[in-house]
Amino acid sequence: MPDIIRLLPDAIANQIAAGEVVQRPASVVKELMENAVDAKATDIKVIIKDAGKSLIQIIDNGIGMTETDARMSLERHATSKITKAEDLFSLKTMGFRGEALASIAAVSQMELRTKSVDGELATTICVEGSEIKSQEPTTGEQGTSISVKNLFYNIPARRNFLKSNSVENKHIIDDFQRVALANRDISFSLFIDNNEVLSLPDGKLSQRIVNIFGKQYREQLVACKEETPHLQIEGYIGKPESAKKSRGEQFFFVNNRFIRSNYLNHAVLGAFEGLLPEGSYPFYILFITIDPKHIDVNVHPTKTEIKFDDERTVYGIIKSTVKQSLGLHNVVPSIDFSVDVNFKSATEKVGQATTKAERDYSQFKRTPLEDSNIKHWENIYDDALTASKLNYEDLSDEEKGESITIESSANQMELKDLQSNQEPVSLEKSNVFQLHNKYIVTQVKSGMMFINQQGAHERILFEKYLDNIQHQTGMSQQSLFPQSVTLNPSDFSLVMEMEQEIKSLGFVFEVFGKNDIVINGIPTDVISGDEKSIFEGLIEQFKQNKSELSIPLRENLARSMAKRSAIKQGQTLKAEEMNFMIDKLFACSNPNYDPGGNSIFYILDTNRIDSFFN
Ligand code: ADP
Ligand code: MG
Repeated sequence: MPDIIRLLPDAIANQIAAGEVVQRPASVVKELMENAVDAKATDIKVIIKDAGKSLIQIIDNGIGMTETDARMSLERHATSKITKAEDLFSLKTMGFRGEALASIAAVSQMELRTKSVDGELATTICVEGSEIKSQEPTTGEQGTSISVKNLFYNIPARRNFLKSNSVENKHIIDDFQRVALANRDISFSLFIDNNEVLSLPDGKLSQRIVNIFGKQYREQLVACKEETPHLQIEGYIGKPESAKKSRGEQFFFVNNRFIRSNYLNHAVLGAFEGLLPEGSYPFYILFITIDPKHIDVNVHPTKTEIKFDDERTVYGIIKSTVKQSLGLHNVVPSIDFSVDVNFKSATEKVGQATTKAERDYSQFKRTPLEDSNIKHWENIYDDALTASKLNYEDLSDEEKGESITIESSANQMELKDLQSNQEPVSLEKSNVFQLHNKYIVTQVKSGMMFINQQGAHERILFEKYLDNIQHQTGMSQQSLFPQSVTLNPSDFSLVMEMEQEIKSLGFVFEVFGKNDIVINGIPTDVISGDEKSIFEGLIEQFKQNKSELSIPLRENLARSMAKRSAIKQGQTLKAEEMNFMIDKLFACSNPNYDPGGNSIFYILDTNRIDSFFN
C-alpha cells in the first residue's frame, strides 16, 4: 500500500485553526484589541460596519512592526511574546499563541498597515484567504491599523451561520467592554456604522465603569479590596438593591484577563446570600491578581477559561472579600471618586513582597525569648513530643535511638514552620482571651483580632497532615491494645487504594482476613483511646468530601483528618493553647482561610472601633 499521509497546505491548516480562534466578528475584535494592548498602545479605535460582516478595523498607536515582522506576524505560531515553554507560566501579555493574525487572514480579506517606532515608512500588506496579494512601503502614522473585510467570505457556511446584526453587535460591544475594563490607562473608542457608540478617556476604574454602564452606577458601587499572601482582589460590586433581573454585568479578570467561572460566580452569589430578591444578579467586576505559576491560561483557545491550582482557596477569599465589602458599605456609603485608586496592571504586582497581612504582622517580630517559647508551646500541645524531649536523659540507649528519629523529624517540622513563616506574629501574649468558647481574641497593632478556633486548628492540622503525607513524616503512637475494624468491601478497597497515604499520616495497620484490618498505631497528635472510631471517622469524612468536592486524594485525606481531629467550637482553651494556636496559624503557608475556604480571622481596626464612639 502506498504512503497516504500528507501535510496540509498552510492555507487549509490556517482555516482549520481559524475555526477555533475566530468564531464570529467579536472574536476578531477581541484578538486585534488585545494585540494593540500588547503593543503598548495608549489609544485604540475600533470601527465596525455591518456588524463586522463587512468591516472590522482596529487602529492603535502602539509600537508597530518592522517590515519583516509585519510579514512574519501572518504566519501561524509566529509570536513575539513567548520564546520557551516556561514563559507560559509568567505571561505578561494577552496573546501568546501566535495564531490570531494567521487565522483571521485565512478567513477574510485583510489589510495590515504598520509602522514601527524607528521606521521611516509604514508597511502595508494585503492578504486574502492566507494568500499575500501585495506588500509595499507606504506612508502612515506610528502604530498599526488592521482592516478585516468580508469575514468568512471564503467559508459561506460560516458566514450564513452568523446571527442578526444586533446580536453580533452585542457580542462585539461585550468584548470591547471587557478589554476596556481591563485597561483603564488606555483610551478607547468604538464606532458602529459611523456612530460613536462608546468613547472612553483613560482614567480610574470607577470612571470607566460609569462611562460604560451609565451615571447611575456612581451611587451603586462598593469597593472591594483584599490582599492575602496567595492573591489580591480589587474591584467593585454593586449594592444589592441595584441587582438586575438579567445577567451580563458580572466580570472576573485574572491577571487582567477576562475569565468566565461559574464556580467563582457562585462564591460571589454566596456572599450576597439573603440580600438579593429571587432571580436577580448583582453587578460585580473583580480583578484577581495571582502569581502566574498558580494558574494555567493555556486551557481554551479563546482563553476565557483558566485553571487555578487551588481553586477553593480562591473561592473562599472571594466570598469573604465580597461579604466584608457588603458589610462595610453601610458605614462607607459612597466612593470618593477623587481618591479612587487606579489599580496597577495586574501582573506587575505579582511577587511584590508586602501584602497586607505581612504589613500587619511585620511589626511583631519575635524576641529571642518568644522564640524559645514557641518550643515550649509545641511541647504543651504535642504530648508525644513532650514525652520524647523531657524524658530523653532517662531513656536507655535503645530507646534513645528511637526518640532521636522522632526528635529529628520534629525539628524538621519546627524548622520548616519557621522558614515558611512569612509574617512572624508576635502578639501580646498576655492579651489573649477566648470569646464564648469559639473565638480567640487578641490585640494586634492595627486593632483587635478575632480568630475562629476551629478553623484555625483545621488549617494548622491540614498543612501538617499534607506535609506528613507528602514527605511520609507522620509519627505514630502505638496502641495499647490493637483494634480490629471490619470494613464493607468498598471501604476496604478504598483503604487499600490509599494505604500508603494513610500510613504516612501515622496510622499503623495490617490487613487480616477478607475485609478486616488491625490498627496498631495512630498519629501522635490524635488523642488515643478509640482508634477504631478515629479510623472510621476518617474514612467517613473522606467519602463525604469525595462526593461533595473534587479534590486530589492526598488533599482530601489531609482535610478529612484535620476536620476530624481539630478542636471544635465550644471547647475551652487555656491561654497557652491559644498562644500556641496563634503562633502555629501564622506559621502556616495560608493562615487566612480554613481548608474549606472560610475566613479564619478578622481584624477589627482601631479606627473602626473609634468610629463607634464619635
Ligand atoms: P500573538 O498575539 O499570540 O503573539 P498574533 O497572531 O495575534 O499572535 O500576533 C502575532 C504577532 O504580531 C504578535 O506577537 C506581535 O509581535 C505582532 N502584532 C500583532 N498585532 C500587533 C499590533 N497591533 N502592533 C504591533 N505588533 C503586533
Ligand atoms: Mg494576539
